[in-house]
Amino acid sequence: MAFDVDGPTGDAMLDGSLRDNLRYFTEGAYGPWRAVPRLLGLLEEYSLVATFFVPTWVVEHWPARCEAILRAGHEIAYHGHRHEVFIDCTPDQQLEIMHRSAAVFRQRLGIGPVGFRTPSGDWSLQTAALLRDFGIVYSSSMRGDDRPYFHPSSDGKPGLVEIPGRWDIDDYTALAYFEDPDFPVGLDRIPDFRAVERNWRAEFEGFHRDGLCWTTIFHPKVSAKPGRLAILRGLFEAIRAHDDVWVARCRDVAQWWLDLHGFSDEVIA
Ligand SMILES: [Zn+2]
Repeated sequence: MAFDVDGPTGDAMLDGSLRDNLRYFTEGAYGPWRAVPRLLGLLEEYSLVATFFVPTWVVEHWPARCEAILRAGHEIAYHGHRHEVFIDCTPDQQLEIMHRSAAVFRQRLGIGPVGFRTPSGDWSLQTAALLRDFGIVYSSSMRGDDRPYFHPSSDGKPGLVEIPGRWDIDDYTALAYFEDPDFPVGLDRIPDFRAVERNWRAEFEGFHRDGLCWTTIFHPKVSAKPGRLAILRGLFEAIRAHDDVWVARCRDVAQWWLDLHGFSDEVIA
């Protein structure tokens, strides 16, 4: 289970337009400020653990919320500093963002995360190797399979573990609605919440039936709102209706995958 706490980071922050658009800023700020505590309560109710991918600009501005995430036993991992578009960044720029993020995580939260989700949904050909050399163990950025896999490596050591998540189970595709600019383009209505819940449950049940690894791309600011929480509640009920589901943080999935392939000495600190 994974959530992205983007807050107000993203394209509007990167191009500077956020400064003049307080409405957009507050839509984003709602995530860490109001939605995260509500989501943490629901996860606790169902004894679920998760990974939270957090841009470090959000860490700097809502450190108490991030501390609450960690206190509850969840994982925090890399998601850029201001949600940079990695595919448009040079390898040097990507590395600079990673170093900056690492410093913020260390100074503000006292942690050294081992996971990464690309903020833009894409990255460049060099990124997987760059991240591994930086000390990252796993990514949840690409697609390609319904269970983890290794990115290629040529030095005998395991490549970056990929824990794929896809837009099929991204709450933006079903529940996001923004004006000016319109997003998603062409979608002018929020769908029936029960239909969204049914879709997500069906996705989960398919993965469960075949014994696969189901990874979500949910955003507290989108789906952890008072009414929409019922969708997540329905999903969590479906997960807890089975007694053979391993609900884990991504770092634990990565460690399991390494162990499974004979890399037990690659222990995640
Ligand atoms: Zn994001």
